[in-house]
Amino acid sequence: ACFKQIEQREKSLNCYVSIQKEEALKNAEVIQKGIDCGKLTGALAGVPVAIKDNLCIKGMETTCSSKILQGFYPAYTATAVENLIKEGAIVIGKTNMDEFAMGSTTETSYYGATKNPWNEEHVPGGSSGGSCAAVAAEECFFSLGSDTGGSIRQPSSFCGVTGLKPTYGTVSRYGLIAYASSLDQIGPIGKDVTDCATILEMIASYDRKDSTSIKRNAYDFTSALVDDVKGMKVGIPKDYFANGLEDEVREKVLNVAKELEKKGAVIEEFELSLIDYAIPAYYVIACAEASSNLARFDGVKYGYRAKEFEGLHEMYKKTRSEGFGSEVKRRIMLGSFALSSGYYDAYYLKALKTKALIKEAFDKAFAKYDIILAPAAPTTAPKLSESLVDPIKMYLGDIYTVSVNLAGLPAVCLPCGIDKKGLPIGVQMIGNCFHEHTIIRAAYSFE
Ligand code: GLN
Repeated sequence: ACFKQIEQREKSLNCYVSIQKEEALKNAEVIQKGIDCGKLTGALAGVPVAIKDNLCIKGMETTCSSKILQGFYPAYTATAVENLIKEGAIVIGKTNMDEFAMGSTTETSYYGATKNPWNEEHVPGGSSGGSCAAVAAEECFFSLGSDTGGSIRQPSSFCGVTGLKPTYGTVSRYGLIAYASSLDQIGPIGKDVTDCATILEMIASYDRKDSTSIKRNAYDFTSALVDDVKGMKVGIPKDYFANGLEDEVREKVLNVAKELEKKGAVIEEFELSLIDYAIPAYYVIACAEASSNLARFDGVKYGYRAKEFEGLHEMYKKTRSEGFGSEVKRRIMLGSFALSSGYYDAYYLKALKTKALIKEAFDKAFAKYDIILAPAAPTTAPKLSESLVDPIKMYLGDIYTVSVNLAGLPAVCLPCGIDKKGLPIGVQMIGNCFHEHTIIRAAYSFE
């Protein structure tokens, strides 16, 4: 069924960077045989999954949608993907993304933009745009994405699907090609929160191969799928609903609060504060870490190498000049600048202090509220190529998602309406660290 959808829609949507049809059908046959003879084959036996192209899979080309990783075949598989395969899931392909997950539209991909399945003149969001569009277009049953500053939640919102960013440390980052290591988390994207909770239960695990992996007491997220929000305290951050938010988005998101209230939740407005500092702090930290993480792509160890050069230095220079796209170069330069001696204190250290203050503001809020309800993005999906001409505007669009990563919190984004243009609107539910079950319960009750 998925390959039928792919046949019909993939040519214009471009959700995938690579598809492995033969291999997937072969694996499906093996699993079918296992099911037929009554052998236990796992909770996801035979379910087709699409994986964002920054997650390594042994023997499958992994490009991060960059030219510089063209022809890179990893020698190992990411733990999160391994966990899925152990449960019988079938990988059918790698999904398109913004190059190295830097972007909010999936337009910075070297392999062309992905289009929004709801209206192909619009972007699917990003950077996990391919993963979200593939679920929305039924080109897979569910997918994995990564979220450094909103890359699961914002495209979920734009594509009318459900995406969950877990608490930092919950899903192993082993095998995820790093963008900003202190913020990156892998998470599930599916049709609803039931799918997301089920998949999260499979992919979350303690992993010694990721030094920031956290051993949690329990990994039973599906037990939170309960329709009950009686007495749940829901905080509405007033500063997230101020100027700059589209009226239709505001209305639909606030409707969610009303629905939860009808079911017995207690709604209260409050001031989260520091919202104006979130974007600058995020972009300084993310670019700084990226400039360091991307230093390894030098033409020696991975993927692409420039054809003509004289000496080692010129090989590095030409490989990186030809291999990286302009958004990635911009961020490597910004990050290198912020980390350079003399500027470190003024930018990077300040950003880290801001990050600590943002975490403190959330701690204060979660002393009073069980969840925080917010938009995922100020608008619905913009038209293709609108964002490319104005990167600052694109960065500002991340205003409602980046703080969650700076504070390491879990958050889910799910559909809550459609605007006049016929494009989906998403609502974001943010929980305290390790409280995935609370946001899953709230999301399930609203659905
Ligand atoms: N749009 C943000 C950025 O470009 C977030 C991306 C992400 O979460 N990977 O950094």
